[in-house]
Amino acid sequence: MSVVGEKLQPTIFELSRPGRGGGKIPHPAPGALDRVPASARRATPAALPELAESEVVRHFVNLSALNYSVDAGFYPLGSCTMKYNPKLNEWAARLPGFAGLHPLAPAAAAQGTLQMLWELEAMLAEVSGMAAVTLQPAAGAQGELTGILMVRAYHRSRGDLERTEVLVPDSSHGTNPATASMAGFKTVTIPSAPDGGVDVEAFRAALGPRTAAIMITNPSTLGLFEARVGELLQATHAAGALAYMDGANLNAILGRFRPGEAGFDVMHFNVHKTFSTPHGGGGPGAGPVGVREVLVPFLPSPRVVREADGSFRLERDGERPTSIGRVRSFFGSTGVLVRAYAYLRAHGTALREVSDDAVLAANYMKARLAGTYHVPFERACKHEFVASASEIKHRTGVRTLDIAKRLIDKGYHPPTIYFPLTVEEGMLIEPTETESLETIDRFVDALIEIAREAETDPEIVTSAPHDAPVRRLDEATAARQPNLRWRGMTGAERPCGN
Ligand SMILES: *Cc1c(COP(=O)(O)O)cnc(C)c1O
Repeated sequence: MSVVGEKLQPTIFELSRPGRGGGKIPHPAPGALDRVPASARRATPAALPELAESEVVRHFVNLSALNYSVDAGFYPLGSCTMKYNPKLNEWAARLPGFAGLHPLAPAAAAQGTLQMLWELEAMLAEVSGMAAVTLQPAAGAQGELTGILMVRAYHRSRGDLERTEVLVPDSSHGTNPATASMAGFKTVTIPSAPDGGVDVEAFRAALGPRTAAIMITNPSTLGLFEARVGELLQATHAAGALAYMDGANLNAILGRFRPGEAGFDVMHFNVHKTFSTPHGGGGPGAGPVGVREVLVPFLPSPRVVREADGSFRLERDGERPTSIGRVRSFFGSTGVLVRAYAYLRAHGTALREVSDDAVLAANYMKARLAGTYHVPFERACKHEFVASASEIKHRTGVRTLDIAKRLIDKGYHPPTIYFPLTVEEGMLIEPTETESLETIDRFVDALIEIAREAETDPEIVTSAPHDAPVRRLDEATAARQPNLRWRGMTGAERPCGN
C-alpha cells in the first residue's frame, strides 16, 4: 500500500513547466548583466520552479491548509499547553514601535521596549514569588541551562567545588538531564513512588555533599502536584544544594502556588506555553528564568535597569562582574515577550481562573475516559493527565500509537504519546482552559469510539490514518532516514516512496 494519501499535493518542482511564469514583467534588456563580472555570473540558470503567480499562491495556500493548528481545531498535546492564542497578542507584537525597533538602537530610542521588558520581569516575579527574572533565554530548555549555570556559579562563588551531581526524577522531560550534562554535571535519576510523586526515600539516599541541585517539575509530567514538595525542598537545602523547578506546567497553578514562596531557588517559565504564543512546529519561544535572592548576582547580563529619574537602560559591560554573562543576543525573543506581556496585562487578576478552568477541564476528561482507558493515577490531576491503552493492547493488540493515528482520521491532533516514559502505552492529554465543553465531549467520544473499534475492527485502527495526506509510515525508517528535501525524480517515483 502506498503511504501517499489523496490529499498529498505535487511539489512546486513537479508543477513547474519550462518557460512558464508571470509573463507580464518585462525581461531585462540585452546586456543588462554586462557590468557583472563574468566570475560572478552563473554558467547555468538556477534550478528554480517556473510557474504563474496564481499557481504559486494556490500551491502555498493549499499546503498551509494541510497544517493542523490551534486555530483550526482541538490540540490536546500534553506538556505543551496548546491553548488558543488571543489575536490581541498578535496585534501588540506587530505594533511598529516593538516590531520595527533596531536591536542596536540606543536606550534613548528604545524606552518603550525597555519599559515593557522591565514590567514583564516584575509581573513574572509576582506570579512566581521570585526575587528577579531574566528574559534572555530563547526557550524553556535554554532557561534550564541558564538556571543550572547560575547554580554552578553560586557554588563556585562559595568555594564549594565538590558538587558534581544533579538529581532528576525519572518522569522528567528529556531537557532536564540534557541540561545537567551540558552544564558539566552528572545526572542522577530518582525513581517515582507508586503515587507518581518523587520517591522520598530514594531521593534522600541520593542527596549529599555532591548534590549541586535537584530539578523538579511541578506539577509533574504526569499532571500531578508534587505533594511532598515541602519535604523535598527542606532536605535539599539541608544538604546545601539548590532546588530548580521546571515551570513548563505553570498553567495549572497560576494564582494558587508560587514556587519562590514554596522554597524553589530558580525556575523557568515557558511563556510561549503558559502565556500564549503560537508554538506548534518548534518556535520561536522564550524561557525567562526567575531566581530567589541568593542567585540574583549571577543573572545573565545585561539586565534592564531603571534609573532614579524613571528612565530605562541596559547594564553596561562589566557592570555586574558576578553575572554568568550573556546567554542570548540582544534582549531575548522580544516578539514572544510582547505577547506574554499582552496576555498578562489582559488577564490581570483573572489568571487564577485560567488555571482553575484548565484543571477542571482535565479532571472532567479524565473522569469521562476512566471507564474505557486505564487511568494509572486515580487522585485528582492538575491541567493534564495520563491515560493508558495497556489493557486495550493486551486484549486486542491495538497500541497507543495506533489510537493516535486513528485520531487523525477523526479530525484531531493526537495527544502526546509514550511520554512520560514511566507509563506503559501512555497518552498525556492536556485540554487547556480555552476549549468548550462541547469540544471536549466530542474528543472524548472519539477516543471512546476508537476503543470500541479496537474490539470490533482492530484492523481499521492499526492501519490508520486512512484520510491523511501521508498514511502510516514505518516509524523507525522515518526517524532514521528522514526524507525532507525535494530531489529530482523520474518516472513513477513519488515523493514519499511507495
Ligand atoms: C516544553 C517543556 C520543556 C522544554 O521547553 P522548550 O520551551 O520547548 O525548550 C521542558 N520541560 C517540560 C516539562 C516541558 O513540557
